Amino acid sequence: MSAQIGVTGLAVMGANLARNLARNGYTVALHNRSIEKTDTLLEKHGGDGDFIRTETLQELVDSLEKPRRVLIMVKAGKPVDSVIDQLTPLLEPGDIVIDGGNSHYEDTRRREAALSQQDLHFVGVGVSGGEEGALLGPSIMPGGSRESYDSLGPMLEKISAKYNGEPCCRWIGTDGAGHFVKMVHNGIEYADMQVIGEAFDLLRSGAGIEPAEQAKIFTDWNSGTLSSFLIEITAEVLGHVDGRTGKPFVDVVVDSAGQKGTGRWTVVSALELGSPTSGIAESVFARALSSQKDQRVPAQEMLQGHEAAVELPESFVEDVRLALYASKLVSYAQGIDMLTAAAKEYGWDLKLDEIASLWRAGCIIRAELLDDIMKAYAVADERPANLLLAPAFTEAIAGAVPAWRRVVSTAVQLGIPVPVFSASLAYYDGLRRPRLPAALTQGLRDLFGAHTYNRVDTEGTFHTLWGEDK
Ligand code: NAP
Repeated sequence: MSAQIGVTGLAVMGANLARNLARNGYTVALHNRSIEKTDTLLEKHGGDGDFIRTETLQELVDSLEKPRRVLIMVKAGKPVDSVIDQLTPLLEPGDIVIDGGNSHYEDTRRREAALSQQDLHFVGVGVSGGEEGALLGPSIMPGGSRESYDSLGPMLEKISAKYNGEPCCRWIGTDGAGHFVKMVHNGIEYADMQVIGEAFDLLRSGAGIEPAEQAKIFTDWNSGTLSSFLIEITAEVLGHVDGRTGKPFVDVVVDSAGQKGTGRWTVVSALELGSPTSGIAESVFARALSSQKDQRVPAQEMLQGHEAAVELPESFVEDVRLALYASKLVSYAQGIDMLTAAAKEYGWDLKLDEIASLWRAGCIIRAELLDDIMKAYAVADERPANLLLAPAFTEAIAGAVPAWRRVVSTAVQLGIPVPVFSASLAYYDGLRRPRLPAALTQGLRDLFGAHTYNRVDTEGTFHTLWGEDK
């Protein structure tokens, strides 16, 4: 018996993807650096399908049908290079090496270029949905050559999440495109969670609504335009009571949010691409600030707030919902702007409608509005320059603007930080203003550095002889 695919790296993600493949009828060869994980998987889940146990990479390679497909699911970073270095001498031209971990897209570009020199296909695959998604059907974003997708795609589509029967897996583009799209997905996820946090804080600290009551509000919100996995689980977390103290669960958790780095990668990449991803950036900074307890604790005593007394409008809860919706839309708009900029920079033919379509199930940012985002980019001649300019969203966001402004100004007066609500509103206003103060910036740059400027009334590049030209 030979296997159709081999998986090396059998921690939680690799093991669950291997089980998912086996449950879908594929024979899967298993390998892990230390044999214990392989044996544990076989002991506990050997009944999921056909597995081949291997102890070395040579055995793994020998157990595979040709062209061979080897899925690497080890820790991102140097371990991936180490496995590739050990694996590639054992392979033959045409074989496919797949990295399904959270690798940086620049690493994927580098690895793809190196392996293509050896006539090997290297496929960087973004996998979203956590451990449960890996087992039951994740959202899958594969990069690499089109030829490799012809061989690998059907397997990935079969194990992926399905939305109305459609697989949440499409070929994204060459080299690092799959990992880039996964990275932006994670950036949007950061912003999405932060705006939910800001809504929670406003309702709690501003309107005094307790977590259990908020759980009901979020459940209610989940049946409208905000309907999404993250809103659904927010209701669950807010409704959860700590077994040890009987307090709301959120009150016994330290308010310092961790991060593994994909949000930071998104922002660094946005800066490099010149894409104004302010909401996503603020969400990464918000986590960083939350972790600076050594500064936050003394600041509570030392920094004055001078908060104003604000009478909240009756519509406050609905206002917060609208502000959350508008800010969430901006996060998607900014993520999509990054994809557009990266497509130009790296020569990827990114299909924005397809990308939105495969985020509709299996992944953390799955949300009802992705269906409309998909539709906004479906017709080639009608693609908007910015998501907010798609007719469906222009109208939706316009309806939210008055509430959004009320919420941000109320938050400012109450001293409740809403970095993503406010940055998103500033982005929205920046986009729509007929004149920006960038004209003054250009003047300053010309004065101190002779950087030149363009005029509104004449073509060409100009420099003023400052001090001489009256
Ligand atoms: P992990 O904790 O990131 O990595 C552990 C695995 O890597 C083990 O199989 C370990 O082998 C192997 N490994 C580490 N260093 C190695 C080396 N130098 N050579 C060979 N093998 C090495 O595993 P994970 O959580 O399953 O994640 C796998 C990948 O999926 C990561 O890139 C992760 O970021 C990504 N991901 C994870 C999640 C999630 O929810 N966990 C979600 C999406 C994506 P030993 O058993 O021998 O130590």
